[in-house]
Amino acid sequence: MDKLSDFDPRDSEGSGAAAAAEASSLSIIGVCKTYRGFDGAETLALDNVSLTVAPGELVSLIGPSGCGKSTLLRLIAGLERPTGGELRAGGEPINGPSAERGLVFQDPNLFPWLSVRRNIESGLVARGTLRRQRGEVAEFLKLVGLEAFADRHPHQLSGGMAQRAALARALINHPKILLLDEPLGALDQFTRMKMQDVVLRLWRARGATMVLVTHDIDEAIYMSDRIILITPHPGRVDREITVVLERPRVRNSPQFLALRAQILELLHFAGGEDGDGAGRRTGR
Ligand code: ADP
Ligand code: MG
Repeated sequence: MDKLSDFDPRDSEGSGAAAAAEASSLSIIGVCKTYRGFDGAETLALDNVSLTVAPGELVSLIGPSGCGKSTLLRLIAGLERPTGGELRAGGEPINGPSAERGLVFQDPNLFPWLSVRRNIESGLVARGTLRRQRGEVAEFLKLVGLEAFADRHPHQLSGGMAQRAALARALINHPKILLLDEPLGALDQFTRMKMQDVVLRLWRARGATMVLVTHDIDEAIYMSDRIILITPHPGRVDREITVVLERPRVRNSPQFLALRAQILELLHFAGGEDGDGAGRRTGR
C-alpha cells in the first residue's frame, strides 16, 4: 500500500537539506525550435514562444500531444538548443544542462539494480559530492515519505513510490528550477491525486520554481499558479490563465469546475495531433 498519511514534508522544513532552495526566475524570449527529419523535412516544433516564470512560481504547460511541451522543457533543461530566441534562468543564459535545473519524466527511470537509497545518491556519486551530502539522503527520503523503503529495489515499489524516489533524486541536487514532464501520467487516478499533493508539499518545502507539463486539466488547475495553453502546428503560447483559486483547492467547487469547462473548451478548439484544424474556432 502506497501510504502517505504518516508523511508530511513540512516536518522537515528548515532542517538543513530540506530548507527552501533559492528559486530562479525563468525567461523564454521569442524561442523557436525547428527539427529536421532524416528526409530533410522540417518540423517547426515551437514558434516564437515567450514566457516568464517568477521565482518560486508553479506554472503548468498544457496542450495536445505534439504541441511542443517536451521540446520546451528540453530547451529549458539545456538538453537542446533553440533555433531562435533565447532562454535565461536567474538572468543567466541557458547554454547547457545544469544541476540547478532538475528534470523528472513520466518514466521514473530509476536504476533497477540499485536500492532506492542508492538511486537517490546516484547523482551525488556522479558529481563527487556524496561524502559531503550523505547526511542529506535520509532527509530527502523522509521528505518524500520513503524512509521505510530505502533498501527496496525499484521492482518492489508501486508506481507512486517509484515516482517519489525520482522526485527525491532530482531534489537532492537542490534545483532552483524543477521541470516535470507528465511525471504523474502513468499513475492511476487515485495515486495521481495523492501524488499531486506530494508534489505540492515538496514545492512548498523546497521553494523551487516548477514547470509542470500535463495533459490533465484538473491537475493543472489543482496545482498551478498559472496555466499556459499551447496550441500545435506550430507550438505557440495560445494564452495564459492565472489560477486565482485559494489553496488547498477543492476539485468539485463551482469555481474549479467553471475554470475546467473554460479550459476544456479552449483546448477542444485548439485541435490535436491528428486534427486537420477543423476543430479550430471559426468566426464565432
Ligand atoms: P509534446 O511533448 O507536446 O507531445 P513534443 O515536444 O514531443 O510535443 O514534439 C513537438 C513536435 O516536434 C512534434 O511534431 C514532434 O514530432 C516533433 N519532434 C520532437 N522531437 C523531435 C526530434 N528529436 N526530431 C524530430 N522531430 C521532433
Ligand atoms: Mg511530451
